[in-house]
Amino acid sequence: MEVLKQRIITDGRIEKGDILKVDSFLNHQIDIELFNEIGKEFKKLYQHHDITKILTIEASGIGIACIAAQYFHVPVVFAKKTESLNLDENTFNSKVYSYTKQKSYEIIVSKRYIQKEDRVLIIDDFLANGKAALGLRDIVIQAGASLEGIGIVIEKTFQPGGELLRQQGIRVDSLAKVKAMENGRVIFKN
Ligand code: 5GP
Repeated sequence: MEVLKQRIITDGRIEKGDILKVDSFLNHQIDIELFNEIGKEFKKLYQHHDITKILTIEASGIGIACIAAQYFHVPVVFAKKTESLNLDENTFNSKVYSYTKQKSYEIIVSKRYIQKEDRVLIIDDFLANGKAALGLRDIVIQAGASLEGIGIVIEKTFQPGGELLRQQGIRVDSLAKVKAMENGRVIFKN
């Protein structure tokens, strides 16, 4: 997605630990016009999948998922993060290791909001090691629902998440693929 790549080049900042900061349009201040373009792109990619739910994870996934959902006309469900183990029989739970925060947390989704009839599209801002995506997928599996695919805004292809997911036969669509971050420059894969 060319407009997204250009925005990353002009406004992205590379931080230590291979972190790409995009706070000025994606993760802190939000550019709604760009989010609309992102939402339309996800809709185009999944228009024939009869998506019934968009699943994301708090906090940064929510904005993107909500804008995208306007094009799909379906509800957004966001997994809540909690540090304590939650053994509630009314929730699906999974564990996620956060690369950026370097700690694990639980994610929970009420059983009311994902059901076996659902055709789910997972949406998130970044794909790095794939832990967040795998945790969300685990919840879709627990629900017995169908995972139609994973839509990612920025995939860092030099980290293993994308390959790991695709090897498992999961469809992953990333709107910008960053293959390297060198000398303060972001280099895209094609
Ligand atoms: P993963 O679970 O794939 O390792 O990491 C995905 C999550 O970590 C995303 O939801 C995102 O919040 C965060 N993340 C991973 N890498 C980056 C990065 O380079 N920049 C930012 N802003 N967030 C990242």
